[in-house]
Parts: sequence; C-alpha cells; structure tokens
Amino acid sequence: MTMPSLSSLSRTDFSCHTLVIGAGPAGSAAARMLAQAGVDVLLVDQQPMGRDKVCGDGLVPDTHHALRRLGLLDQVLAQARPVTHIGCIGPRGGRVDVPGELAVLPRKALDEILARGAVDAGARFLAPCRFEGVLEDASGRVTGARFKHGDQSVEIRASWVLLATGANPKPLQLAGVCERHTPSGVALRGYVHAPALVEQMPMMDMVWSRAVRPGYGWIFPAPGACFNVGVIVADSHRTLSSGKGAKKDLNLRAIFDAFCKHYPPAATLMREGRLTGELKGAPMRFTLNGARWSRSGLMVIGEAAGTTYSFTGEGIGKAMETGMLAAEALIASRGAAPQGDAQVREHYEQGLRKLQPRYRLYERANRVNALPWLADLVVWRAQRSQSVLSRLSGVLNETSNPGNPFSLKGMKRLFLD
Ligand SMILES: Cc1cc2nc3c(=O)[nH]c(=O)nc-3n(C[C@H](O)[C@H](O)[C@H](O)COP(=O)(O)OP(=O)(O)OC[C@H]3O[C@@H](n4cnc5c(N)ncnc54)[C@H](O)[C@@H]3O)c2cc1C
Repeated sequence: MTMPSLSSLSRTDFSCHTLVIGAGPAGSAAARMLAQAGVDVLLVDQQPMGRDKVCGDGLVPDTHHALRRLGLLDQVLAQARPVTHIGCIGPRGGRVDVPGELAVLPRKALDEILARGAVDAGARFLAPCRFEGVLEDASGRVTGARFKHGDQSVEIRASWVLLATGANPKPLQLAGVCERHTPSGVALRGYVHAPALVEQMPMMDMVWSRAVRPGYGWIFPAPGACFNVGVIVADSHRTLSSGKGAKKDLNLRAIFDAFCKHYPPAATLMREGRLTGELKGAPMRFTLNGARWSRSGLMVIGEAAGTTYSFTGEGIGKAMETGMLAAEALIASRGAAPQGDAQVREHYEQGLRKLQPRYRLYERANRVNALPWLADLVVWRAQRSQSVLSRLSGVLNETSNPGNPFSLKGMKRLFLD
C-alpha cells in the first residue's frame, strides 16, 4: 500500500476526479466506494492516518449495516468488543435492556480501518494537509481546494469536492456553506481501565437523569478491559444562545461528575478503575441542519452536513451512509452531459431528504433528554410489555419509527397496548 507524502508527488499529482476532505467515517466511506468504482480519488486529512477522535465509540445497527456494505464489517468486528444490548436506565434506576446488533471499538482503530479500506480500494491519501479554502472558476463553481502542508500552500484541482470535515464549523465557512456556527450538542468522554468490572458491565448503558439534563450519560464496554464513559448535552446551541453568560453555565466536567455521582456503576468505575488519558470534549451537529448540503462542484457529507442523531448523538453510521450516497450520485453521473452537475446534486440531496423524517422523529424523541421522567415511563412500560420492548428494539435497529414512543399518540399506545 502506498502512502504518498506531498514532497514525493509531482506537480501533476495535484489533481484528481474527486477530492475528499476529511478521512473520518464519511470521507473514507465515500473514498472507498468511489475508488472501488474506478474513480480517481484523493483523500486528504489534517491529521495522519490513525488519529484519535473524541467519541463514545458505540457501533449501533446502522453502522454495522454501512460497514457491511463497504465490505469492512468483519475486519472491524475482529477488533471490536461485541455487545448484545443497550441498557436504558431511567432517573429512578429502572432499566430495560434493548437487543440490537452492537459493538464498541475506539475511533482510533475504527477510522484507521476505514481510511486503509479506501487506500486498499485504490484511493490516494495525503496527510497532514489542512483545508484552507475552495478554488472556484469564473462562474463560482468549485474546482478544487487550497491546503496548508507545513509551511507550504498546496492547490489541488478536482472535478468534484466532498467536504467531510465533521462538526468543526470553520471548514464549512471556508467552503461557503456554513449556515450555523454554533454546535447542536456537546459531549465529553474518557477511557477507564477496569479489568475487575468487565463481567459486571457487559452492556452499553445509557442513563437519563436530572444531573445530565438535557442529555444523558453512558458507559460503553470497550476492548482491552476498558470502558468509554461520558455525557452528552443535546441542546447546547439553545443553552449557549439563551442569554448572557449562558456559555459559562455549561460546564461539561461538572455534568460528568454529577453523572458519576448519580449513577452507582459510574461511581464504582471511577473509584475502582484507572482513567487512562484525559477527559475530552467535542462539539456535534445534528438533524441535517446548519449547513448547505451542496453547491456547484461540492457536496457536504457526514457530520459537516449535520448527520448525527439528536436524541442519541449517534452519527458514525449515518456519516458513512451519506458518504456512500454522495459516491453513488457521482458514480451514477459518469458519462453524463455537462448538466450532470445539477443532476449529481439533486441525486444526493434527494437521498438526504429521504432521511429527514427519521431525523425529525429523533428530534421529537429528544424530549426524553429534556424531560428525563419520560425515560422512567418508557422503561416502566417496556419492563411490562413485550410489544413496547420490540418497538424500542425496532427504533434501535431502524426497522420502526423512533418518534412514536414519545409522541402523544405514542404515549397513548404505550399505555393501551
Ligand atoms: C463525545 C462524543 C461521543 C459520540 N459517541 C458516538 C457513538 O457512540 N456512536 C456514534 O455512532 N456516534 C457517536 N458520536 C458522533 C460521531 O463521533 C460523529 O457522528 C462522526 O464522527 C461523524 O463522522 P464524520 O466522518 O462526519 O466526521 P469526523 O469523524 O469528525 O471526521 C472528520 C475528519 O475531517 C478532518 N478535518 C477536519 N477539519 C479539517 C481541515 N480543515 N482540513 C483537513 N481535514 C480536516 C478531521 O481530522 C477528521 O479526520 C459521538 C460524538 C462525540 C463528540
């Protein structure tokens, strides 16, 4: 496998058919699919391959599905910690275990498998290269991008650019597609090494309580006798913009400490385990909001386009799915006439519009984060009704509608079923 550095490239190498900026799940999935179809792809990242990414590392069913489509699921599962259930825990301590196709793998390992998967399929990979702005022709169509590589400025020309730079708003602004600077949510996580607790904590626990409102805390069992433990605040953009000084009030570390105090297994983990590395926070962008999805010559994919779910903060699977959607739009346009530009964008945006109802329903389900007593209610019912539990499992596995359990109609069904 070749891993070219810029200095080893000749001037003519600074062009390609599709330039993918950002080698996270969205960018690498797009690059792999395009390269498999014989498209000349260049995948660029500001960090070398094998970088870390602040995440809960939970691989939920849509991630499994996307990895299967890419032909990388077995490789990922060979390194991941398999999990059979998500434990949903209400503020009063009641719990229901929802079955699903689940696993946990730190992003350092997952993203390396994905980026290598793109290179193995024939994509070129360049790093570290920081995106600094787009190149445009006289009509304003994007024709490539400018990067900083050490002290060097580099221009890469491309027929298409895919922007896959995640939740950071700066690249969106540089590409002229940013519609909202603030994040939709923020989250904090740490790794705790605790071999003695591995048997006791086999599930991915999601815990709702007033201590974390509006959000939840989690403990996910990772490989190597480690646990990924963290908190998410789901509506930080509202909290942060809700008045003078509001930003100061959102102290993620204090929320994390309150979660550990509230949830006894988290307290045990922090007391008996060893925190490896620092607690780290990161922003998130939800519900397909906050950025234009495309402009002439450029498509925005993954979390840059707001692909993370609001209720749960899960986004790896949908990032890959939208990367593949953009790749499919480009592959389908091969050999098309010049008006292909509009067709490609429409193909992609139509695919995103099809996903919108699911995002809206997750937005409604997000009420549980603001009103954690709703979690008590759902847990209480799911403990008593197989059909309610099946519905929750359907939400997790994306085989049923996520909004229903939390709408008025859904609440009625919850009690009358
Ligand atoms: C604390 C936390 C916990 C989470 N837990 C989960 C979970 O358990 N399960 C789940 O499914 N999702 C989870 N998510 C969401 C998930 O992390 C994102 O949805 C996912 O990473 C989005 O993938 P992406 O490829 O769009 O972006 P990213 O993974 O962010 O990748 C973006 C890439 O772009 C590169 N880049 C950025 N700027 C530039 C630039 N200027 N120039 C060049 N390259 C650049 C970055 O280096 C990076 O490699 C969590 C998020 C957080 C913050």
